[in-house]
Amino acid sequence: MNGTDPPRGPSGSSMERSAAAEIVFDRATKRYPGRTVPAVDELSLTIPAGEICVLVGPSGGGKTTAMKMVNRLIDITAGDIRIDGRSVRSLDVTELRRGIGYVIQQVGLFPHMTVADNIATVPRLLGWPKGRIRERTAALLELVGLDPDEDRGRYPAELSGGQRQRVGLARAMAADPPLMLMDEPFGALDPITRERLQNEFLRLHREVQKTVIFVTHDIDEAIRIGQRIAILREGGVLAQYDTPDAILAAPADEFVARFVGADRGLKRLALRRIADVALIPVNGTPPDVLRLHAETSLRDALSLMLSEGSREALVLDEREEAAGVLTLDQLTTLLAERPPVATR
Ligand code: ADP
Ligand code: MG
Repeated sequence: MNGTDPPRGPSGSSMERSAAAEIVFDRATKRYPGRTVPAVDELSLTIPAGEICVLVGPSGGGKTTAMKMVNRLIDITAGDIRIDGRSVRSLDVTELRRGIGYVIQQVGLFPHMTVADNIATVPRLLGWPKGRIRERTAALLELVGLDPDEDRGRYPAELSGGQRQRVGLARAMAADPPLMLMDEPFGALDPITRERLQNEFLRLHREVQKTVIFVTHDIDEAIRIGQRIAILREGGVLAQYDTPDAILAAPADEFVARFVGADRGLKRLALRRIADVALIPVNGTPPDVLRLHAETSLRDALSLMLSEGSREALVLDEREEAAGVLTLDQLTTLLAERPPVATR
């Protein structure tokens, strides 16, 4: 997840990429009629083009409202939201929505339509020729991990929850929108399917670098998915907006500290692997201590060292050769370290 990496996706006519869009919330405010407290209160944040921004916070914090103001499913009361410098208020609403992929928890697939026809919804509306639609649908099925031949003719009722969510994702990406809105897209899935889809979504995002606004109430999902995280508290107030590493290292206030959890140090260690750390070189015969692979997360390394009662571990590279030594003291120092500015 490095914003400066060039996109490395499949190329060719059916997979052309439109540029990702920069999104600016500029004191965006929503007051629902008859309610004294705003649902979203002067929300200001900039999402760089091509990044995944996760809106996270307790239920009722205004996440869905903030997201739906972007595609104008909900009207903005005050302030503005701009996509590549253009106010969403100034755009034709149909045009606006066709340029935005939208994925929600209940997917909303058309039950009487096949998988392929569901995915082709927007391209058909845009009047794409049949051949191009077919090509695009096949490429998307493959991209989201479905079988382009077996699955294209099936109906939503014949799919598992995870498969339906994949179809929903493919449909949202069909016309290659520069922006995707995802509201708790994996919320209804079992933990294993959920984690698999999270990982595949991250892989897919590396290939097709879109700007993504992703809503969840689950801080662990936010940390795993987000390049930046915006934490919203009750009343739609932005509590903190930063990289996961920076938020875990330095929560802005008590509310954020409580929301990310007392194990925030461990969560932060989970973001990094042993391979990211400068190890102590081994001179001569490697010590006969606990052995860990360089790919192990720092959180797992700490856990294993504690449970084995060892203050140091020998780190092995992919050839099973000694790469250096990791000590408990190093992990303690890393926990206390402030993150560098603008990390991921
Ligand atoms: P979240 O997605 O973070 O759970 P929402 O954006 O759905 O939060 O809701 C934010 C606040 O706005 C809540 O207090 C909710 O009750 C209120 N709200 C949401 N939709 C409406 C509506 N259509 N009319 C009135 N109040 C609403
Ligand atoms: Mg919501």
